[in-house]
Amino acid sequence: EQALATRAELEKRFAGLSLPSRLYIDGKPIDAADGATFDRISPRDGRRITSVAEGGAVDVDRAVASARKAFESGVWSHLAPRKRREVLQRLARLVEEHAEELALLESVDMGKPYRDALAVDIRVTLQALYFYAEAVDKFSDEVVPTDRDTLATVTREPLGVVGAVVPWNFPLMMAMWKIAPALATGNSLVLKPAEQSPLTALRFAELATEAGVPDGVLNVVPGFGPTAGAALGRHGDVDAITFTGSGPVGRLFLTYAAESNLKEVSLELGGKSPHVVMEDAPDLRTVARYVASGIFFNQGEACSAGSRLLVHRGIKDELLELVLEESRRTVVGDPLDPRTDIGALVEHRHLERVLGYVNGAVEEGARLVLGGNRVLEETGGYYVEPTVFEAGPRMRIAREEVFGPVLSVMTFDDADEAVRLANDTDYGLAAAVWSKDLSTAHRLARAIRAGTVWVNNYDESDITVPFSGYRQSGFGAPDKSLHALEKYTQLKTTWIKL
Ligand code: NAD
Repeated sequence: EQALATRAELEKRFAGLSLPSRLYIDGKPIDAADGATFDRISPRDGRRITSVAEGGAVDVDRAVASARKAFESGVWSHLAPRKRREVLQRLARLVEEHAEELALLESVDMGKPYRDALAVDIRVTLQALYFYAEAVDKFSDEVVPTDRDTLATVTREPLGVVGAVVPWNFPLMMAMWKIAPALATGNSLVLKPAEQSPLTALRFAELATEAGVPDGVLNVVPGFGPTAGAALGRHGDVDAITFTGSGPVGRLFLTYAAESNLKEVSLELGGKSPHVVMEDAPDLRTVARYVASGIFFNQGEACSAGSRLLVHRGIKDELLELVLEESRRTVVGDPLDPRTDIGALVEHRHLERVLGYVNGAVEEGARLVLGGNRVLEETGGYYVEPTVFEAGPRMRIAREEVFGPVLSVMTFDDADEAVRLANDTDYGLAAAVWSKDLSTAHRLARAIRAGTVWVNNYDESDITVPFSGYRQSGFGAPDKSLHALEKYTQLKTTWIKL
């Protein structure tokens, strides 16, 4: 009853919000040049929440022009770093004050549990803002050792106008991994949020103006990929694109850059991350708990989802049973219900895609051990139950990114085979190694080609560590950590003849 009351309360709060619905350019909400709008459908019940202005090429032009004007004027880019820090800290405090509102917008817009939106998305968003705000006035540039009659300095300068294109799975958090370091270093930015989740970015832009971010420094243009996204990617006056999303779209951004002004492109892409569970793994119940949360967190719509469970044949039956127990305990439900672990998949098309993978896996001969169905259809929302397959390593379900609550279990006989299987993927974003033996754990962590390797845990995270992938999981300076600052700055050498 308590839980239902809370859900009702959240529904009431949401109904009372005035939802942001226009593009945000030059410090103001405005309509699209051609007046176009698109509907936002909440995946929790399939109902329309609002209409949002649909940015097109003309709007991207307007946003880039505003960002360029702000950048060249020096109103932000020439500020003492300490001043930018103060504004960003003020902005972080405003986000903190609006944490519940932002979490609610995120949850209703794209279907993740409100509880997680607050505890993860908004908390991490805040971490990023505070971290880069704090970092930016703590760096000095270099005077390098040259001949005695010369002086050479190496300084870091902002790139100029940065285009950020982000996905819908952690909408504000992914955006903040880009906005915070880009703004802290003095750039202006045009953000294109995913068409499935524009609301928090738009609300954030309003807060940025309130905090004192000058007009034009942060612009948000919601719209669709092939129109607004492509216009940003092809724009001749955008200096860099920072992209998070799928591999195929990442490739398009490389093409856009090649066909336009050779802007810098950095890509954070997908994954098919394995757990490698050795025979001497620690307590298997703990492993099972991490395996379940590693794949079911955020409905499995996470780039670092632990979607492959590679387990030593000798302990497979025991571990699988425990994983099934944990999975059965995972609650699928309304994102606004505080008991919910798995909310709704982002949209109907994605629901069909995930179910398509499930059906394809059965046809390919994978053994469906749990789930596999759409549930709660009567709500009108897009829910899929926790799903577990025993699969073969060549099957599509074991190789492609499903981006849903679907786990593929495979076995190995020794460490060499485990490493071979773990690395037998086009991706390389993350992995986990489970072993009580220090040497085994270290050897495997070294041998697995992934940007993050967790040993005896999964999803441990902090803004201080870089996040990036090997191979087709992306390239360029990473998101997060101080290394991200490299992505938004250009090195300049100045020679002075004494
Ligand atoms: P997506 O690639 O379909 O979309 C991402 C963004 O690109 C959206 O804003 C979209 O509108 C835009 N876009 C789509 N088509 C475009 C086009 N033709 N031209 C220009 N822009 C276009 O990805 P998604 O479905 O939103 O997100 C899921 C993907 O993101 C998964 O592959 C996931 O692994 C990845 N992801 C990676 C990370 C990471 O840090 N490595 C984090 C989160 C998500």
